[in-house]
This record gives sequence, structure tokens and C-alpha cells, in this order.
Amino acid sequence: MLKPEVLEALSAIVGRERCKTSKEDLLTYGYDACIYEYLPDVVIFPKSTRETADIMKTALAHQVFVTPRGAGSGLGAESLAKQGGIVICFSMMNRILEINRANRYAVVEPGVVIADLQKAVEGVGLFYPPDPGSAAVATMGGAVAMNAGGMRGVKYGVTRDYLLGLEMVLPSGEVMTTGTVTAKDVTGYDLTRLICGSEGTLALVTRITVRLLPRPKAKRTLQAVYDSIDRAGDTVSRIIEAGIIPATLELMDRMVIKALEESAHLGLPLDAEAILLIDVDGDPETVERQAALVAEFCKSQGAREVRVSSSEKENEQLWVARRSAFGAVARLRPSCLIEDATVPVSVLTATIKKVKEICARNQVQVAVLAHAGDGNLHPLMLFDQRNREELERVEKSMDEIVDYALSVGGTLSGEHGIGITKAKYLPKQLSPTSLRIMRAIKRTFDPQGILNPGSFLEKTQGNN
Ligand SMILES: Cc1cc2nc3c(=O)[nH]c(=O)nc-3n(C[C@H](O)[C@H](O)[C@H](O)COP(=O)(O)OP(=O)(O)OC[C@H]3O[C@@H](n4cnc5c(N)ncnc54)[C@H](O)[C@@H]3O)c2cc1C
Repeated sequence: MLKPEVLEALSAIVGRERCKTSKEDLLTYGYDACIYEYLPDVVIFPKSTRETADIMKTALAHQVFVTPRGAGSGLGAESLAKQGGIVICFSMMNRILEINRANRYAVVEPGVVIADLQKAVEGVGLFYPPDPGSAAVATMGGAVAMNAGGMRGVKYGVTRDYLLGLEMVLPSGEVMTTGTVTAKDVTGYDLTRLICGSEGTLALVTRITVRLLPRPKAKRTLQAVYDSIDRAGDTVSRIIEAGIIPATLELMDRMVIKALEESAHLGLPLDAEAILLIDVDGDPETVERQAALVAEFCKSQGAREVRVSSSEKENEQLWVARRSAFGAVARLRPSCLIEDATVPVSVLTATIKKVKEICARNQVQVAVLAHAGDGNLHPLMLFDQRNREELERVEKSMDEIVDYALSVGGTLSGEHGIGITKAKYLPKQLSPTSLRIMRAIKRTFDPQGILNPGSFLEKTQGNN
């Protein structure tokens, strides 16, 4: 419960209108795209770095916890006030401050929605590649904090690869900037990348400078239909092995196809076991050649049909399917848990098989989506969280999937982060030394433990 004097001090910074305390507002900001709920005491909407710094100083003076939040599309409760206190929501700091064509960079506030930045830079012939499935809602601040990846990761990498510099408010209330706008910068430790992926535990990001690329002149989308998911998985690893670099390489299994067809009636083949959705982009001649090569490749690996889009509009239509996939599957049952284990692409097929075997054995309904070119699996486990016994079976499946992914050289998370859902697994992947260094970094930034408490590091054992 927030003391009246704290609310008064916060209201003095941003005005009472931008301090939300009604039950309805608190409930709205009490959940994200995961299954947990934690109510904050107040949700506050700064419009500037100065206001953010003043909020942080006030919180520190009164020892109130602070949790940053973008759009709340995170999948691990990262933006929730797990121990109450203030949620700072950056949705009102949403200006694109600069698009610099000469030096190919953009400067944005953290509340800018990723898709809005993509559209704005494309309008002037530039390209911001990171493209999470949630790009239509997720913010740049959230993307930096989570090091968001997405569909174009296989060719273009993730948020980290585009960061030039940041401005941030530290838990002390001090403002710090990192990086430059130059293409190269090796001055000192790379604090920009330390913040990227830190899940809102080290600092509040208030300004972001990203590198841009020239916009690819052409793109083709291919849809390859398979009667066997193994064949689809093997095609992915062979494409990568053959040195072909598509811009995207996504896999949907039978259950995803069925759910999409039931919800959106896109004319997808209901008898297919899997579909690969593949983009190639670049100069027009290269794209035509690559599209033909990839189509042949898919057929030779067992695709029963390959459809190549013939226009920009058709490209988009094919992507409508993929972008709607999470929603289409999630509506089948009351609760959906999205796994994120990522493996070397050469063991993709074996991992998909293992995931299906684990879920079948534990009687858990699962659909498999994947940023397959990255080996980044998204098994969607469907259940009813009110049913304790069913939830336990889902958790057991999670444990087994994690163990398998780690046993084949994979990682706990390819892009969704650790949050509170995967915190207990951290010691399985990170050594005690790594965890000790991470805790020391957290203490250096946030000696009083005031920023985003109850997050991934604190959930692991040990105080060293
Ligand atoms: C349907 C769906 C599809 C998705 N697809 C992908 C995908 O393809 N790839 C992918 O990587 N992720 C994906 N995600 C996960 C999620 O959308 C991303 O992690 C996204 O980057 C979160 O952005 P957000 O603005 O919603 O952040 P939030 O969920 O609000 O916050 C996420 C984290 O960022 C911190 N944070 C937010 N703003 C700031 C700030 N200004 N300063 C410091 N910390 C901050 C929060 O404290 C929290 O720890 C998907 C999610 C959904 C629901």
C-alpha cells in the first residue's frame, strides 16, 4: 500500500492524472502475456527523462519498488510489480526523435511501438530489421530490455545487433548515456549491450539510438507444404547447411495450421503436417534467383507443394497467417504457456519430435511454432491453469523440454527471456561464477534492490 505522501510526491512530478491508482487501472497493468498477475500500487506515465529521474529519486527516498513497463507483451511476468510498488509505463514517451538518412540511424523514445518505427523508416527507404511477432504492440524500450528477436533473426539478427546507444535513468535517479552514433565504437565496456536483455532490472531506458539498413528492394514469400514434420524440420537444417540465407524461415505444425484455418479461414491445407514460411529479400534479380532455388530445395526435401508469392500484397497475405498464429492457438484453451527453448539448427527435427513425445507422455496438448531458421522453438502448451493437476503436467513438460534442449547444446531462451517462469532453471545453464558476476552487476547498478525486484536473478539460489 502506497503512503499518501509518496502519491503526493509522484503527483507533484507528473500531475495526478498520470498517476493511476483505481482498481480498474491497477488490474489492467497487473498482467502481461504470461499467466501470472501482480497488482502494483500505482501506475505512472512519465513524458520525459527528467520526470522519469524524479520518479526514481522519489521512489528511492521512500524505498518504494519500481518496475518499468512497455506494452506488457512480455511472456515471463517481467513487467509486473512482483512485490508491489510503482509501475512506470513508458507508453507516453513515444516520439520518434530523429531519422538520420546520412548516417543511417534513428533516435526514439522507449514507448515507440516497433511497427511504427519500422513503417517510419521504410517510408524514407530505410529498414529496421528486428521483427517480433508482437511488433504491432511491443515497444522499443521493451524490445531493448528483452533483446527481442523475431522472424528476421536468421538473416538480420536481433535487437542487440542494431543498438548504437542508450540514455537511461539509473536506480539512483542519475541519468547515464552509452554508445555513440558512429558505426564503430570500442570505448570502454559495452554498457549498451549489458542493458540490452537485462529484463528491466538494471536501469530505465529513456532514449534509444538504433542502426538502420537500406531497405531491401524486393522480397518474395514462399509457403512450402509438407506431409511430414520431420521433412519440414530437415529442410530447415539443410537450407542453413547449404549456405542459403533467407530473411525468415518459420515453421508451423498441423495444430497451428488447423487453429489458424478455424479462426481466419485463410485457405491453408488442413491435411498438411507442417508448413514452412520463407522470405527471401534483397536486389530483385538475386531475390528471383533465391526464391527459385529455395522452392527447388524444399521440393527436393519432400515438400508436396511450394507456393511463391507474386506480389507485395501476396507476401503480406501469407504473413497474416503467421502473425495470427499465437492468438489463433491461444483461443483453444483457457491458458497457454509459450516455451522458448532454442537449439542448434542441426538438431531441430529431433527436438520437435522430443517436444511432441514429452507432451504426449504428460498428456499436454501442444502446438509447435518455430523461428526455425534460428532453431528457436515455440511449443505452445494449452491447458486450464485452474486445474492444478493439469498445470503440474505442463510444468513437468517444461522441465523435460528445458533439460532436453540443454542436453543438445541449446539455451533456456532464444528471445523471450527468463522472467519468473524460467528463473528456476538458470543454474542449469549458467555456472555459479556467471551467476555471481551477474548478481554483482545488479548490485552495482541497484545497491538497494529497488528496481524490478523478484525478477530472474533473485529467484535463483544463493546470495553470493
Ligand atoms: C503474440 C506474441 C508474440 C511475440 N513474439 C515475439 C518474437 O517473435 N520475438 C521476441 O523476442 N519476443 C516476442 N514476444 C515477447 C514480447 O513481445 C517481447 O519481449 C517484447 O520485446 C516486449 O515488449 P513490451 O513493450 O511489451 O515490454 P514489456 O512486456 O512491457 O516489458 C518487458 C521487459 O522490459 C522492461 N522494460 C520495458 N520498458 C522498459 C524501459 N523503458 N526501460 C527498461 N526496461 C523496460 C520491463 O520491465 C520488462 O522487464 C511475443 C509476445 C507475444 C504476446
